[in-house]
Amino acid sequence: MAASGEPGRPWQEEEEAAAVVVVGSCMTDLVSLTSRLPKTGETIHGHEFFIGFGGKGANQCVQAARLGAKAAIVCKVGSDSFGNDYIENLKQNHISTEFTYQTRDAATGTASIIVNNEGQNIIVIVAGANLLLNSEDLKEAASVISRAKVMICQLEISPAASLEALTMARRSGVKTLFNPAPAMADLDPQFYTLSSIFCCNESEAEILTGHAVSDPTTAGKAALVLLERGCQVVVITLGASGCVMLSQAEPVPKHIPTEAVKAVDTTGAGDSFVGALAFYLAYYPNLSLEEMLKRSNFIAAVSVQATGTQSSYPYKKGLPLALF
Ligand code: ATP
Repeated sequence: MAASGEPGRPWQEEEEAAAVVVVGSCMTDLVSLTSRLPKTGETIHGHEFFIGFGGKGANQCVQAARLGAKAAIVCKVGSDSFGNDYIENLKQNHISTEFTYQTRDAATGTASIIVNNEGQNIIVIVAGANLLLNSEDLKEAASVISRAKVMICQLEISPAASLEALTMARRSGVKTLFNPAPAMADLDPQFYTLSSIFCCNESEAEILTGHAVSDPTTAGKAALVLLERGCQVVVITLGASGCVMLSQAEPVPKHIPTEAVKAVDTTGAGDSFVGALAFYLAYYPNLSLEEMLKRSNFIAAVSVQATGTQSSYPYKKGLPLALF
């Protein structure tokens, strides 16, 4: 077997390096369905409750693993039942948890979500243990980061930890895929120069550039602004319209359309896209970026046709062979 592993096989030989490594977040989603949203100080009855596994870091890692990537996540959860359950969920997705840390100093990250019959919601995120992933943890995980083909980061852990992980990866010649979500207007400029691929959605592109983004043309303009800040490649996702790409090598925006599907639940579509792109970068480096993005569009479109976040992510076995 090649050093990078054979796509489609679960994590088997512990000593073999993970090709896709995520340094990012795990969040437990606590979802209540109600007929309407409560007012301040009011208690109401909901009609359904469920717990889901979320967090952009884990979502992206799960999607890459389900496509067959040998994947690992460097993250921190609490020493609590949510943390234990999250680790079990990662293992069930064949993700290495060797560098999934547990802490007694904060609870596992949670997103408490109330959704009414119209699909409107109120969400409170408590990042908790995610924010305690620190420099020491990253140093301990250096061997897995430096041996990856692709490392992905987002902004649901501390920006300092994300920057340090990106720096470590780049020093080892590892491709970096950075997803600046949730977006911050005053993003440290180093995030751009440390990104081999900078991948965001329309609203994130707007916050980062100050330009309205609503279609391939305006996305192309925003992508140029982001490219000029020093990333090698910029990708902006556009929901049912696919995505736009451009690179230092070809600084002319290119629209990669997709077949629009009727969405049932778009939650986590962006994470499915990023996880799929990481898979292709790691296992099919000879494909053109355009082809990788076409395939990532297809996989993310599958995810919007089912409810939930990770629960909607497709596995290799249910996808057309032409994608592999
Ligand atoms: P979310 O925040 O809901 O996780 P996002 O806003 O980060 O998603 P989007 O740009 O909405 O990300 O969608 C990501 C990708 O998912 C798109 O680039 C596209 O490939 C796919 N996608 C989303 N909605 C549709 C749709 N209705 N039809 C086809 N593909 C879709």
